[in-house]
Amino acid sequence: MNISELPDFQHFSATPGLLQEKVILVTGASDGIGKAAAVAFARHGATVILLGRTTAKLKQVYDTIKASAGPGPAIYPLCLEGACDQDYREMHDAIAREFGRLDGLLHNAGELGPRTPLLSYSTESWEKVLKVNATAEFMLTKALLPLLGESPCASVLFTTSSVGRKGRAFWGGYSVSKFAVEGLCQVLADELEGTSNIRANCINPQGTRTAMRAAAYPAEDPTSVKTPEQLMPTYLFLMSDASRSLSGLSLDAPALEPGDN
Ligand code: NAP
Repeated sequence: MNISELPDFQHFSATPGLLQEKVILVTGASDGIGKAAAVAFARHGATVILLGRTTAKLKQVYDTIKASAGPGPAIYPLCLEGACDQDYREMHDAIAREFGRLDGLLHNAGELGPRTPLLSYSTESWEKVLKVNATAEFMLTKALLPLLGESPCASVLFTTSSVGRKGRAFWGGYSVSKFAVEGLCQVLADELEGTSNIRANCINPQGTRTAMRAAAYPAEDPTSVKTPEQLMPTYLFLMSDASRSLSGLSLDAPALEPGDN
């Protein structure tokens, strides 16, 4: 489908029970966009599995969701930097045992890494950023595909960036990792086309008011970019059956519009 033919997903109007019955795993659910997405998915009826590396922060998100009316969430602490195939196999088995299904996977966790010229970019930082932002997405997707394949309508959503489409000076491994994510999404979507109920798409949040954004642009006025909550119509669209016919796309969340603040 041509992007110009898409519905107005940036202003998608979600019904309260939009994600009812769905089980959705969100990586990097402890902060920023992942936290907002986990809360939004739960508020629309999903059972959310909160994956992250900082258990204390995950517990705060857990408590926020638990205090609302929807289904109770679950916490899955895991550091993507050190995780191996066995960790992901165990995760698959735990989700199958506890929930018996998986309908959505939001790859959101990310590391910014150093903002420095390639000449001074350390190989250690490069490997860490590539592992967390790209290789872990491959490993996690591979492990969970069998469960996702049992869902009547599953969505795998990768998080990209503007520097994952056009390289920019000093964005080093982060930029390259997002190019890799775009490629991973395209390969997966093409492999699944016509043979599976799983779709795969990328979302570019664009400038959003989070800790990562503040680290990348320390001099920026935070109110000049959107809050994570303002992105949620697009995330809800892409995670819900409303986008079931779309796969292999790389879409943008809306930029800040006059009157948004
Ligand atoms: P953030 O506020 O820094 O949150 C990043 C999340 O990823 C946190 O939950 C963090 O956990 C988790 N994480 C980092 N390293 C991890 C690891 N090794 N293992 C497990 N979890 C890990 O960033 P954000 O701005 O919300 O970014 C979310 C996604 O959007 C990222 O993929 C980012 O590249 C992308 N993005 C953001 C922007 C923007 O302007 N904010 C623009 C384009 C793309 P802790 O809480 O433990 O740190």
